Parts: sequence; structure tokens; C-alpha cells
Amino acid sequence: MHAAVFHGPYNLSNDEVNYNYLHDTKEKGTLLRVNACAVCGYDVRVFRTGHKKVVPPIILGHEICGQVIRDVVTTIDDGTTMVLKAGSRVAVSPLIPCLNCRYCNNKQYNLCIHLKEIGSSINGGFAEYVRIPEQNIKIGGLIPVPDNLSDDEAALLEPLACCLNGFYHIGLDTKEAEKKSSVVAIIGDGPIGLLHLQLSKKLYNAETIVIGKIAHRIQKAKSMGADTTVLLGNDRVDGGGGDMREHNLDSTEGIGADVIIIATSDPAAFDFAKKIAVKNSRINLFAGMSLNNFISLDPNWLHYNQISITGSFSSTPEMLQRAARLASNGEIDLSKIITHRYALTDIKQAITATGKYHGLRVIINKF
Ligand SMILES: [Zn+2]
Ligand SMILES: [Zn+2]
Repeated sequence: MHAAVFHGPYNLSNDEVNYNYLHDTKEKGTLLRVNACAVCGYDVRVFRTGHKKVVPPIILGHEICGQVIRDVVTTIDDGTTMVLKAGSRVAVSPLIPCLNCRYCNNKQYNLCIHLKEIGSSINGGFAEYVRIPEQNIKIGGLIPVPDNLSDDEAALLEPLACCLNGFYHIGLDTKEAEKKSSVVAIIGDGPIGLLHLQLSKKLYNAETIVIGKIAHRIQKAKSMGADTTVLLGNDRVDGGGGDMREHNLDSTEGIGADVIIIATSDPAAFDFAKKIAVKNSRINLFAGMSLNNFISLDPNWLHYNQISITGSFSSTPEMLQRAARLASNGEIDLSKIITHRYALTDIKQAITATGKYHGLRVIINKF
């Protein structure tokens, strides 16, 4: 099969490899034909610097829509099983949990102590075919794609599920939104920031601010319903509210954000979050950061202002199913996040486009 093999930083080649490339051929599981695989910021970070989870050579890509080759029996939400018929389309949760640890016992598979991931610790979707291990099928990691979603959109169900997990983890609930008492600030204007924006507006009806550095993305945030946008770098603020950097805990009558989502791997984002926090703010560190970054905190700031700081990582198959329902109902429009499409042979261009913030999500959909 054709595959883009990562051999180490800045070393990615289009190779012809066997379906079982790097796999134990005795391993149980199933094979999917890949229909679409999106390029994540994580893939760009790994391409540039490698990652402790990634041992080359390996095929990256974890935002996958594929097609089942043979009938597969899988588990759904309530523990019952269903058959995915050969030819049916699925979105893939990249998790490969151990199924034995305390987190697995609690169905928190994303927190599994011995977690492996498709496209990170084993071969992923930048190839014609991807092998899905048995442990993934056992947790319902393959989700049927609703007919009204394209392959490209279905590849974005995985990042959408991660954003849902973030909101769930930070404890934003619909009742709170009904009272319209929550202001949500999203730091980061990339695809992940804009998925958070859609969820914040459609699911929670919360007043939502998007803060970013890239003009065309901030423009997109505005067109997607952000109540306030802030383009950093030239202090331009649209939608009222003044320069957000003027706001801090001493001026809670101004724009203060009750919920702050860090959806950028820029380490300066945390300091910015501290500036726009108010009493009782909840800050979620959604994005992974590059290595050797540390944040500093004044413990009394945390204590006297009753601030909560959380992290969220990946998602669960349950969240992936929820993401599929939201996208299928039209509540979330994944097509708005897709701007570029490439063939697998142009994977390097796809990674460059993502790394240089051209457009939003880039999809590989020709193999
Ligand atoms: Zn991703
Ligand atoms: Zn486990």
C-alpha cells in the first residue's frame, strides 16, 4: 500500500509498504481502507521535533474516516454489540487502552496508564489502509458515520470529540448557559479554537470571545458567530469591550471570562489567560505544548480568586458518538473548518500548509 512514513524530524517519505507494516501479524483486529485523514497540529509538532510517544519509523495520522473491509462486531454506548457491515464508513477513536487499569475499569480510556494510540504509537491514517487493534474495537472505537456527513467531515469528528471532552471536563453545563451567566474565551483561532467556538455557541449559547493572531482566522471566527474577537499583535478589538489585555481581576465589570480555553500550543497563552480571568474562572489547557515549557503561578491568586485550572486530553468513544450526532444534526458544521485537500503524495505540502497556518484543517483524501 502507499503510505507516508515518518523516519524522524523533517524526514517523511512516500513509501510502498505491506499492510502489516511494523505490525505483529498475529495481532487480532481489523483493517480499514482510509477514505480521509486530517492533519493535526500534533502531526506538525511530531514532524518538526519528534515526540516521546512516537518511535520512528511509523505512519502518523489519527483523525481518520475509513471503510470497514470485513464485517466487524463492535460495542456501542450501552454495552450492546452491533455489526459494522463490510463497506460501511467509520470514524476512528485513536485510543488503544490496556482494558485492565483503574481508568479503563472506569471507561476513562483516554487516561489509561498503558495507553497506546493509532497514528502515534502504532501506524495511523496517512496510508491507504490502517490496522485497528482489537482493544480499540472492544471499547467501541469505530463509530458509524451518518450518511449526511462527507468523508472529510467525518475525519474531523475526532477533534470535535476532543473539544466536547474539554467542555465536559471543565464542567460547563447547559443550565449555566441558559442563565447566560458564562462568558467563554477561547485563546487560539485555529481549527480547534473554531470548533470550541461552534460548541460554545450552539451547545451552550454562551457569550463567546475568540482571541488569536491570524487575521483571516479571526475573520472566520467572526463569520461563525463569535460575539467578540481579538486580533493580537495590533491591538484591534471588534465587537466591543476594549483591549482585553487591560482587563484583569481588578476590573471584573469589564470583559472577564468565566471559562477560558487554551487552544493554542503557544506557551504565552497561559499568561494571557491569567490576565482575562475573573473570580471563579475555570481555565482548561486543551492544547499540548512543545517540550520544556513551564508556567508560573501565584498561589494566592489561585486561592483568593477561587480559580480552577484543568487539562483535558483526547476523548472517549462515547464523546465520538456524541460528536457524530451533533454534526449529523447540523448543530456543528465541520465543513466550515476544512479549507485544503491534498493527495497522500503531497503530504509534505499538507504538513507545511498546517504548520504555516494556511486556512484551517487540511485533509488528505486521495490515496
Ligand atoms: Zn488531532
Ligand atoms: Zn488501561
